[in-house]
This record gives sequence, structure tokens and C-alpha cells, in this order.
Amino acid sequence: MTIELKNLTKRFGDLTAVDTVNFDVGDGEVLCLLGPSGCGKTTTLRMIAGLEYATEGDVFLNSKRVNELAPRDRNVAMSFQFYALYPSLTVAENLAFPLYAEGLSSSEIEARVQKISDTLQLGGILKRTPGQLAEGEKQRVAVGRSIIRDPTCFLFDEPLSRLDVQLREEMRGEIKEVLQDLSRPTVIVTHDQLEALTMADRIAVMRDGRVEQVDTPHNVFQKPTNLFVAGFIGTPQMNLVPATLSELKGAGKAEFAVKGGQSMTIEVDPRIQELSVGTNVTLGVRPRNLEISQEKSQDGLSTTIDMVEPMGAETLIHLNDGHQDLRLVTDWRVSLSEGQQVNTSFPPGVTHVFTDDEKVLRTS
Ligand code: ATP
Repeated sequence: MTIELKNLTKRFGDLTAVDTVNFDVGDGEVLCLLGPSGCGKTTTLRMIAGLEYATEGDVFLNSKRVNELAPRDRNVAMSFQFYALYPSLTVAENLAFPLYAEGLSSSEIEARVQKISDTLQLGGILKRTPGQLAEGEKQRVAVGRSIIRDPTCFLFDEPLSRLDVQLREEMRGEIKEVLQDLSRPTVIVTHDQLEALTMADRIAVMRDGRVEQVDTPHNVFQKPTNLFVAGFIGTPQMNLVPATLSELKGAGKAEFAVKGGQSMTIEVDPRIQELSVGTNVTLGVRPRNLEISQEKSQDGLSTTIDMVEPMGAETLIHLNDGHQDLRLVTDWRVSLSEGQQVNTSFPPGVTHVFTDDEKVLRTS
């Protein structure tokens, strides 16, 4: 079973909500559509389901073009939350509910309920009503109900958005496990990057209707293909520092001038040699990779600690080089105070160099 989108485009009047989107989702694969509000995630999902027709491009389910098929003929399972259960029905009845319309025999319905109940470990609670269930159990039942029709693929729109933080955390792992067992392609829409990073096999990061990168969670985090993905993925956000290449020093070392007049020498991707002195770039380094020291050095920026924010096991430090804010995450035991002067350096191997023409240089 597969989902394939080819040059999928949706226009609402003058607005291009989804713009030439291409990706495929394999059997048993979970792909998360991730991006800010209004970037076209839901519209993409609705075109797969047949609830919205494509202006251009094609949707293939199991290699069959389904553009003109009505939603009921596509046999996709689409659900907006894993939550809404009928309060007066038992778990078994809730699970069976989507099957009643299909004219199956009662023994067949029973067999399907049994199978889902085995997969999701609901055996002990089949006779209970939703009011008698723990939150996590309710979620498992709702997942069961959305998958019991044995559809071609699963489509979920912000399935965890109504849950509290703790339950979300539990459900992320649980849902991933369940989906792996079902071996169907699954697309999950979310604007929550943690949800995407933990549940997805691959993530499609969207912006303004376009897919910016489709890649594994590891790669969208470690190897963002452009500035948007770099800034969107990761909390706290990656430091993105505008700079000008001021001198090439060989072996991947180069001097960069930043706004405000300071410059620093750092080791970056050796391909930096291909750029000319004077090129404007953006240097990207994750807050957990920045380093600070008390000693002044040519290899970093002279900064002041603006704010120290304890975050439990780690501390978020806001640094300022006189022109811009830099975020550094350290172990909570590191003792630093506001107003202190420190040298902030970008260690070798962890700095991404983004050029204006969307080239990325990095050693990692
Ligand atoms: P959110 O996370 O806020 O739901 P999204 O990424 O899912 O956002 P979509 O709901 O797909 O984004 O919307 C993409 C764009 O298309 C938005 O600008 C939205 O206003 C617009 N849009 C969506 N549906 C319609 C419609 N039926 N008619 C006109 N414009 C629409």
C-alpha cells in the first residue's frame, strides 16, 4: 500500500494553498506534514482523502490515480482527533460502529473487533463505557475505531491537539507503535515539531504551500536544506547570524565579519573555499553547540550575558554581542550571571553556512 503525490496543487481563487507538492509514503511508513499555520497541511491531507479536488497534479493510492474518486471510494481512514467516542456505547460497540454501515455479518464484525482489540490490547476493557476509561485507554479505543475498516491508508489531522501535555507525551510513543503494527501508509498533520520528530519515519516540512524538505527526523534536524527549515526545527531555535565572509584561511577555516563590527575565525565545511571573500551568508549553530569561555579570543565573539533562564536540567543563556541575541543551552550546574562578559565561539564541525542562493555548507 502506498500514497504518492505528484505536483499536487490547490488554488482557492488567487490563493495557492498547496503548490506543486511531491512526496510518497510507503507501506507502514508514517509521514508527518509539519509547518506553521496556514501553510497548506490540511488542504494536502484533504486532497488525499478526496474532500478537496486538486487544481493540478495527481494523487495515487496503491499506484492507482484517484483524483476523480469520491472520498468513500478511496477507502481512506481520516480522523481529526483520536478522541470522540460515543459515551453511551461500550468500547466494543464504539469499535464496531464504523462497520455497521458496511453491511457486514455480526460474526465478521465480532472478528474485526477482536483483531483490533488484540492489536491495541483492549481485551480487558471491551465492556466498559468511555466514562470508565483512563485517558490513554480512550485514545487507544479511538485509534482502534478509526482503523477498524481496514483502510488503504490513515490520515490524521492534529490528532493530539486537544490533549494535555502529559497525555500527549504518552500517546506519541503509543500511536507510533500501533501504526507500525498496521503496515499501512499514514500521514499525520501537525504543527508541533516534537510530535513530528517522535512519531514520523519522515517529515515533510511545509511553508506557503510548498514542501521545503522531506527527510528523516534526524536529517531535518541535523541537515536542514535551507534557512527556513533550520529556524523552524529545534527548540530553542538555531542561532542564525548574518555575516560576511571576510578572509579564507585554508583547511575549512575562515574569518567572518558580523553586524556591529566584530569578526571571528571559525572552522566550517572546507567547501567554503568555493565562495568568494565578500559573500553574504548566514551562520547557523544550535544553542547546545555554542561554547563560551572567560578568555578573550579571535575565534569567537565578545558577548555579554543578558539573561539566565533555568529550564530544569539545562539553563538557557541569552547572550548579546552588542548587536544581536544568541541563545546558548548549558548544563544547569554551570554557574553564570547576568552582566558577565564571555567569549562565545562556534566550535568546529557544528556550524551551518547558508548562502543567499540557498546553498548549505556544513561538515556534519
Ligand atoms: P492550520 O494549521 O492553521 O490548519 P494548514 O497548514 O493546515 O493550517 P490549510 O488549512 O491547508 O493550512 O490552509 C492553507 C491556506 O488555504 C490558508 O491560507 C487557508 O486560509 C486557505 N484555505 C483553506 N481552505 C480554504 C477554502 N475552502 N477556501 C479558501 N481558502 C482556503
